[in-house]
Amino acid sequence: MGTATDELLEVLGDDIVTVGGISSRYHTDWTGVAPCSPVALVRPRTTEQVATALSICNVHRHPVVAQGGMTGLTGAAVPQPGDVALSLERLVGVEEIDPAAATMTVLAGTTLEAAQQAALDAGFELTYDLGARGSCTVGGNVATNAGGNRVIQYGMARDHVLGLEVVLADGTVVTSLNKLLKNNAGYDVKQLFIGSEGTLGVVTRVVLRLRPAPASRTTALLACPDYAAVLVVLDRFRRAAPNLTAFEVMWPSYYWMLAERRGGVTPPIDIGDGRGVLVELSGNDATADERLVEGLVTSAIDEAVVTDAFIARSQADTDAIWGMREAGPMDGIAGMCHFDIGLPTGSIDEFVAEARRRLREVWPDVVSFAFGHIGDSNLHFNATIDPVNEPSDPSIAHRMEEIVYGTVAEWGGSISAEHGIGTIKKPYLHHSRSEAELDVMRRIKAALDPHHILNPGKVL
Ligand SMILES: Cc1cc2nc3c(=O)[nH]c(=O)nc-3n(C[C@H](O)[C@H](O)[C@H](O)COP(=O)(O)OP(=O)(O)OC[C@H]3O[C@@H](n4cnc5c(N)ncnc54)[C@H](O)[C@@H]3O)c2cc1C
Repeated sequence: MGTATDELLEVLGDDIVTVGGISSRYHTDWTGVAPCSPVALVRPRTTEQVATALSICNVHRHPVVAQGGMTGLTGAAVPQPGDVALSLERLVGVEEIDPAAATMTVLAGTTLEAAQQAALDAGFELTYDLGARGSCTVGGNVATNAGGNRVIQYGMARDHVLGLEVVLADGTVVTSLNKLLKNNAGYDVKQLFIGSEGTLGVVTRVVLRLRPAPASRTTALLACPDYAAVLVVLDRFRRAAPNLTAFEVMWPSYYWMLAERRGGVTPPIDIGDGRGVLVELSGNDATADERLVEGLVTSAIDEAVVTDAFIARSQADTDAIWGMREAGPMDGIAGMCHFDIGLPTGSIDEFVAEARRRLREVWPDVVSFAFGHIGDSNLHFNATIDPVNEPSDPSIAHRMEEIVYGTVAEWGGSISAEHGIGTIKKPYLHHSRSEAELDVMRRIKAALDPHHILNPGKVL
């Protein structure tokens, strides 16, 4: 018997399998961590070819890493030495939109943006959204249980998945393209694969839930004097606006850094040393939503829980507001450690202060930026000890992670709110999961992938 690579080439052919000279695009994800060329790149065009590839690798006990758009932020799709890479990039297309069921059936390698556009063209909206939409794939979104901007209203990727087709490690195809909203016939097996980061099976098709596309979005940027005021405003909007689709908060260092890095553009409002809050309502009556926001803002100003506000009146205004929130301008700040953390909403501000205090004890000049989907209890916290020069000592990042994740554990939070675990967060998983939970995860892994060929070294 030859090697797995020989057999993959022999059975699937060189249109599907590449050996040698594999483009660097398949070597690492968005983080750029530990680039490594896979020994072979398999790019199937059908589920059957995915099944054949996995079956061959399973017989040879050969490790395989599934790859989507490579936009992951944890190293989960990065090949380890010796891995075969299985890219879903040719498995693309929207197969069906079912208006009666309000679902779409999509091949796993389809980009999120293409799926969103197809839904819009049919008068629907695919209601999860992330900045990497143009490159990330629906299969990758499912495998990471991606979050994004509108979780407060519609939930994470998991909440959009009604059905899945998955290929198991031994090549078995599990087709469960359920479209029913209610289906309690035994275990809901698809849930195991959502958020499993390619360690339990390879997703090939997804049935996604759609909603009617909203006719309008009403967006506003508010200045709150402190975090207590943010919580009051969050409570008001949650109660009065059942169509609240975003509640994003920016701490001052982040807000003013963005303003500066966007070419000194004057931000729409002055938040001083308070907190900037972005709110968005999605609906069908722009006038009613604008009135609702104006009313809430006016009473919030009367109560001094809002000190300044800008309500979008045009698409340009909306873009200016979202431009204040989008993290793109973080690119290029040297030595940045990125933390995607889940925390009890009420104590996020205390966490930020304590994490900063602990970091400053070690590095007095540390610079940190806090922002996030606070309506979803999700904080993005980024820190660097030298924003200009890349630190040469990699142990600094490790020490920073230990401090921040240790604090997260004390706060009863999660070391990963939406990006997953991959390799980068793997050493810290015990901060957020008990030994009993980890044991269940290991048992599920052993049952579905007894030879540990699927993305070994990731998550567990
Ligand atoms: C600018 C930017 C903004 C982002 N914003 C967000 C955000 O708001 N929220 C958020 O949650 N994430 C965000 N991310 C992270 C990233 O986009 C998501 O994790 C995304 O879901 C990854 O999709 P992908 O196709 O690129 O997957 P990849 O990076 O290719 O892979 C990620 C993981 O999924 C596995 N995988 C991929 N495809 C399959 C498949 N078909 N079957 C089984 N396993 C598979 C891989 O093995 C790996 O473990 C952002 C990233 C960037 C660069």
